[in-house]
Amino acid sequence: MQRFVEVDLSSWTTLGVPVRAQELLVLEDEADIARWLERRKAAPMPELVLGGGSNVVFLEDFAGRVVRLATRGYELVGEEGGARLVRAAGGEPWDGFVRWCVTQGWGGLENLAAIPGSVGAVPVQNVGAYGLEVGERIAWVEGVDRDTGLAWTLSADECGFGYRTSRFKAAEESSRVITAVVFRLPRDEPPRLDYPDLQRWFGGRAQRVSPADVYAAVAEIRARKLPDPRVQGNVGSFFKNPLVSPAVAERLAALHPDLPRHPQPDGRVKLAAGWMIERCGLKGVREGGAMVHERQALVLCNAGGATGADFLALARRVREAVAERFGVELEVEPVLVGREGVRSLERA
Ligand SMILES: Cc1cc2nc3c(=O)[nH]c(=O)nc-3n(C[C@H](O)[C@H](O)[C@H](O)COP(=O)(O)OP(=O)(O)OC[C@H]3O[C@@H](n4cnc5c(N)ncnc54)[C@H](O)[C@@H]3O)c2cc1C
Repeated sequence: MQRFVEVDLSSWTTLGVPVRAQELLVLEDEADIARWLERRKAAPMPELVLGGGSNVVFLEDFAGRVVRLATRGYELVGEEGGARLVRAAGGEPWDGFVRWCVTQGWGGLENLAAIPGSVGAVPVQNVGAYGLEVGERIAWVEGVDRDTGLAWTLSADECGFGYRTSRFKAAEESSRVITAVVFRLPRDEPPRLDYPDLQRWFGGRAQRVSPADVYAAVAEIRARKLPDPRVQGNVGSFFKNPLVSPAVAERLAALHPDLPRHPQPDGRVKLAAGWMIERCGLKGVREGGAMVHERQALVLCNAGGATGADFLALARRVREAVAERFGVELEVEPVLVGREGVRSLERA
């Protein structure tokens, strides 16, 4: 187990904000996890489990311990009803794992190519992109309860997956640490190409498209659209796309006929937050070093020397502008972390 004290976290998150934590532990195997569980009893303090730090915004110094899960490994563990079961350790980098599956010729996860972060974090917000949510491919999730030290397993049905959410987001579930995820990869499912960007990319060629082709297309489209966090710190989308009732969607459509609207299976309508932010004229707007990205309005980025307070001020400004113009409350997507732990935008 590696241990760092009074550590600067800027290189441990993709936003690159310079904040400090009292302690950072890097856990590489089961024995490290057991050592950590002992240590937290001996020296209790606020704690945050971290994967790749690509969906976390530290607003200020963190008065506690950051626990970075860095366990590695993946393997085929079985077959079930025409699908492969593949298990990956929680600390495994997500994109490398997806690439490995695709290299084996195993489809199922390729629409989620090139998303930063770790395997253990994908169930937390039910990562989604290009027409797929990861919960659709999860068989079960394995973990340990850091308070009791007991191992647990939850089936996908028990995980409460929804749009960018799951039971793991609930405060009362925060003792659950995800140590591995088992994916169910269908053997004979055609590639999922209904997302507009992929339809445009492949045209009528769906019959001959392999998982590797889809992986390459998604990675290429993403690279063109999204700022690379290694160049300009960001956490991807800063806000969720709001889900509203059909009545609200109709009222908005009457006022803004070109507002993108996507009806959902549960009857609600998903609106495009990026479009609304852009229409408020906020592209390129700054608060200190934090900036609404000039091409992707849904992304707030570190334009240089941004602090957590800058991101907080910018997020509030964006939210207020959208609420005023469209009457819709945007919800922040990444996890906001203050001195003592996770916070909401309202309480931050
Ligand atoms: C450029 C860019 C593009 C992105 N695109 C997308 C996208 O298309 N779709 C999408 O859904 N997301 C996207 N994201 C957001 C992010 O990459 C994902 O949410 C990712 O799954 C976060 O993984 P992480 O390991 O970095 O998690 P972290 O940021 O380290 O943690 C996120 C949350 O999960 C918790 N957590 C992490 N690991 C564990 C664990 N093992 N057990 C329990 N809790 C844990 C943390 O405590 C925290 O609350 C993007 C981010 C960036 C920077």
